[in-house]
Amino acid sequence: ASKQLKGPLANKEFQVTTYARPTDLLITRGKGSVLYDDLHNKKYVDFTAGIAVTSLGHANENVSKILCEQSKKLIHSSNLYYNAECLNLSKKIVDKTKSLGGQHDCSKVFLCSTGTEANEAALKFAKKHGSLLGPKKHGIVAFENSFHGRTMGALSVTSNPKYRTPFGDLVPGTSFLNIQDELSVLSDLISSKKDKIAGLIVEPVQGEGGVLPISAEKLVGLKQICSENDVIVIHDEIQCGMGRTGKLWAHAYLPKEAHPDIFTSAKALGNGFPIAATMVNEKINNALQVGDHGTTYGGNPLGAALGCYVVDTIGDEKFLQEVIRKGEIFKNSLKKLHNAYPDHITNLRGQGLMIGLEFTEAPKEVISKCRDLGLLIITAGKSTVRFVPPLTITDAEIEEGLSIFERAVKEV
Ligand code: PLP
Repeated sequence: ASKQLKGPLANKEFQVTTYARPTDLLITRGKGSVLYDDLHNKKYVDFTAGIAVTSLGHANENVSKILCEQSKKLIHSSNLYYNAECLNLSKKIVDKTKSLGGQHDCSKVFLCSTGTEANEAALKFAKKHGSLLGPKKHGIVAFENSFHGRTMGALSVTSNPKYRTPFGDLVPGTSFLNIQDELSVLSDLISSKKDKIAGLIVEPVQGEGGVLPISAEKLVGLKQICSENDVIVIHDEIQCGMGRTGKLWAHAYLPKEAHPDIFTSAKALGNGFPIAATMVNEKINNALQVGDHGTTYGGNPLGAALGCYVVDTIGDEKFLQEVIRKGEIFKNSLKKLHNAYPDHITNLRGQGLMIGLEFTEAPKEVISKCRDLGLLIITAGKSTVRFVPPLTITDAEIEEGLSIFERAVKEV
């Protein structure tokens, strides 16, 4: 890191300073679950997948082929006209969701470009639905520890004060509840304001907040409370969806009556290409009118062609079983580490390949030691190490990465 910065890094002063980069790595290429840093001439096992994005691995040949071939045909034509790729992707998401145990009723898809944008659409759709039920019914309930994005609407339902406070007044009408509260408490809070609440947004597994899966019992109860009070339930599956937990959607682990009215997807949907989606049921769709929402790039043929490939590949039962099998390898190995260091490691949790290992203190040194030893890994919440590798990671790469991680924990 002490090297004189040259080449592209010499230009880093031209970037805004909104990202913390503890050390200068210049990632120039990747393959599968490995990334290459040309500045230090080093290779790393990647347990981050670009923050749960490149689920089919880096430089996936089929992904490159689809992007290349589609770009020669048509990249963009706007939402003034239909395009086959956008229509096919919408149908594919609906069909795969149905066949793999997801929400049967979400049969309409809005395509856009980022997770934040998918959530903005979800919030607007819930508010529009609420506005038809009552003049003040446009508030949103969200949860402490949540992360839903950083535009003004999505930030309004993101709880971390560090992200919110500098920006003053956000979208009014948001209330934050504590997911740990008893259902009876949550029920009282929601029903007492039912005339002012249009929707409730929740991550089935809170990602940035610390890899915190929300119990099925809680999600079942919340859906029931919301249905009783005409409140739309939105599941943000941007991080935990698209195969990450071993099912196509995390909500597919829940009984049908707890499935959301709206759910959102992004990140892995484009394997790194910006594409996102908001799925809604007929009830919401009926509340929407032409002109209520839109975006220039949503459903562009390039992203949609790729999305079709991603949904077909990840939405395959065998692929999903593999995610669960690999998740077990991680968990078995991390359980041993947890048992060996009970004074430093306090909890192991997660589903599929979305796993959190909680430490007593922020594990900054473990992360930087891992980097020195050739493993890229990230944190979540205050003191949790987050394991979100490409879903295509091989057993050999898992073993290599985990042995580096174990060594880092031992040595710091
Ligand atoms: N929602 C969740 C659960 C996320 O994890 C993220 C990103 O980390 C977002 C929303 C925002 O997505 P994007 O960064 O694509 O706008």
